[in-house]
Amino acid sequence: MGFEQFGIVSFTSATKAEQFVEFLKSNELRGTVCLDCGAKFFPPRTDCCYCLSDRMDWFTISGEGRLVSFTTAMFAPAGFEKDVPYTLGVAEFADGTKVFGRVDRSIPQEQIKVGMAMKTRAVDLGEGRLTYELVAA
Ligand SMILES: [Zn+2]
Repeated sequence: MGFEQFGIVSFTSATKAEQFVEFLKSNELRGTVCLDCGAKFFPPRTDCCYCLSDRMDWFTISGEGRLVSFTTAMFAPAGFEKDVPYTLGVAEFADGTKVFGRVDRSIPQEQIKVGMAMKTRAVDLGEGRLTYELVAA
């Protein structure tokens, strides 16, 4: 089993970063960090676009981030039609890592504000599929 388990719609079944899904099973959201130049990536990359190194390690995104932007999708791309409306956000964490993802649907729309404290949570979509979302901290 590999990356086909990630997300509501899978666009790829294999990737060098498929261990990402294994970490989600343990409710850990991880990015990668370049061992040569220190650049951090989320979503995880397995090759550094700054120094071209392939020496990467995983790091865990933890603690509280701050919501820096969000939008609510009223129309959806193919495969997500049944989910609208849903809110997408970007949260920035203390180390500067920015995480793009869905915002917890249970947060009332009027309570979603730039600057609010967020953390990440793995979500079991059923049938062995996993994703993650941004939830209020
Ligand atoms: Zn690098």
